[in-house]
Amino acid sequence: MTISTDLAYAAELDAQDPCAHFRERFLIDDDNLIYMDGNSLGRLPHEAATLSTELILQQWGSRLIRSWNEGWFTAPERIGAKIAELIGAQEDEVIVADSTSVNLFKLVVAALRHQAGRPQILTDDLNFPSDLYILQGAIEVLDKQHQLQVVSSVDGIYGPVAELQARLNEQTALLTLSHTVFKSGYMYDMAALTAAAHAAGALVLWDLSHSVGAVPVDLNGANVDLAIGCTYKYLNGGPGAPAFLYVRRDLQKRLFNPLSGWMGQRDLFGFDLNYQPASGLRHFLTGTPPVVSLSLIEPGVDLLCEAGIELLRAKSVRQTSYLIDLWQAELEPLGFTLKSPREHAYRVHTSPWDTPRDCASTWP
Ligand SMILES: *Cc1c(COP(=O)(O)O)cnc(C)c1O
Repeated sequence: MTISTDLAYAAELDAQDPCAHFRERFLIDDDNLIYMDGNSLGRLPHEAATLSTELILQQWGSRLIRSWNEGWFTAPERIGAKIAELIGAQEDEVIVADSTSVNLFKLVVAALRHQAGRPQILTDDLNFPSDLYILQGAIEVLDKQHQLQVVSSVDGIYGPVAELQARLNEQTALLTLSHTVFKSGYMYDMAALTAAAHAAGALVLWDLSHSVGAVPVDLNGANVDLAIGCTYKYLNGGPGAPAFLYVRRDLQKRLFNPLSGWMGQRDLFGFDLNYQPASGLRHFLTGTPPVVSLSLIEPGVDLLCEAGIELLRAKSVRQTSYLIDLWQAELEPLGFTLKSPREHAYRVHTSPWDTPRDCASTWP
């Protein structure tokens, strides 16, 4: 594809954009604002604004406690099931709860206990700092029985894949990485690294915060054990919206939430004084969910399911390639450098998506 820096060329791309009509579904009140921070706080879907009024005035105001049985109790599973669709998981393998950091803590402690006798945790220095802090905290809580190995990226852009693979062995309890790294947009080959970890007997936990809603993810296809992710970025869930966690179905009975609270109790209104974990994933819940914030995740997730992640990914590849070509034409001669992989093979790692299918024919 020849890229032109003409405004007319950009307008032509817009005119042919099969995703363009989704723009109307979001509140955009400043045409001069080019918002490129959806990776930090996604835009507000109109539907979320409408729902917020209904939530406050009807569900809370009128229905009061009755709303718990009219959708509030089941929201963590209901919205989790929709997120599952975006990340290639079964609907009972994803649940919404707490923050990404807290979910990481719960799953890491559960995984390390499951992997008794294996003292190493493997990650990289492209990971989100909070993830490293949580790993350090989990090691403290488990009486310093584990060592954290933070493998360095050579250039701060590409993941140190060969080095990670070389360090996987019978000592490794857990490999945990950000699937898409926030520093450069580099994406790991989830299936290949998961298989390598499994060959060494290690569990794998992927942080999908910068992948979910942005790129196709196939957790089941890669046989992933554990994952977590954020909803206020590409899922447009709203500031501080609760996060999600994924536990592969066959592991759900074998892993235990260290923050065992009443929302994860088998019969929560039995008020038994002894904790009995609920079946499925519900035992990974802890306390009462932030219902308002939790409910407002759903419209953004619905929008993504409606658009389809393949369509969005195809647009994203086109748009990023265009941006990179603009950089090459205008900025590189002035000394600006690119801090993201140049080849979208590394910004889109799984082969089925390398050629955007749905819109390939409608794009130039
Ligand atoms: C945004 C992000 C988080 C955020 O964690 P919080 O608990 O919501 O603050 C965690 N991990 C990664 C990789 C992120 O990108």
